[in-house]
Amino acid sequence: MSTRCMAEPRILILGAPGAGKGTQSSRLAAHYGIEHITTGAALRANADMETAYGTPREYMETGELVPDPVVNEIVAAAVAEADGFVLDGYPRNLEQVAFLEDAVSLDVVLMLEVGREELVRRLSGRRTCEECGENYHMEYDPPAEPGVCGACGGGLVQREDDTEEIVRERIRVYEENTAAVVAHYDERGELVRVDGEQSPDAVWADVQSGVDARVPSET
Ligand code: AMP
Repeated sequence: MSTRCMAEPRILILGAPGAGKGTQSSRLAAHYGIEHITTGAALRANADMETAYGTPREYMETGELVPDPVVNEIVAAAVAEADGFVLDGYPRNLEQVAFLEDAVSLDVVLMLEVGREELVRRLSGRRTCEECGENYHMEYDPPAEPGVCGACGGGLVQREDDTEEIVRERIRVYEENTAAVVAHYDERGELVRVDGEQSPDAVWADVQSGVDARVPSET
């Protein structure tokens, strides 16, 4: 039994690419005052780093997973520095699960559920600010001025791996590798399933109540 102070929860958020993990993780980080650890953003920031396996970019541009040792090192450093955190985009296979379980214990495992065609619609319509990283959607959440970020005035671009062809490959890779991760937490009765096809505010209400039910507030 952990005697750790529970004011800063350790949360894992699972879900396919496009399920809304980034949006809900930002809200979790702000609400609970915890770190947002996201392997996708960390890898994009270090896309041209030379590793024993080549650069992360070589994998990311085709939608394949970056080799475990590269990703595990990023996560080990990040969780060592954080008390509470929300982990987004990791673990994506059972080897990463084993590494994570050796490194840290979790308080809550959330799973955002969204159907495949909705994922494709969300990701292939997504546009991202190249300055601040804010996301928009051409149809569901367009910027007031076309091509311009409403938050900072930066230019909006399509992420290289958000084209429909690569999106479908990312979802295939997710289903092939990450279904086992979901099953692992499900078998242990640790999974909190959330309907990710609701509005962002409705998803947030379910996410927050899922966390609060498992993490006693500090009194
Ligand atoms: P994301 O933004 O989470 O969709 O990640 C974008 C890309 O980064 C993925 O398609 C992978 O190439 C790579 N990536 C992110 N997280 C991981 C991970 N945990 N393991 C391996 N590759 C990852």
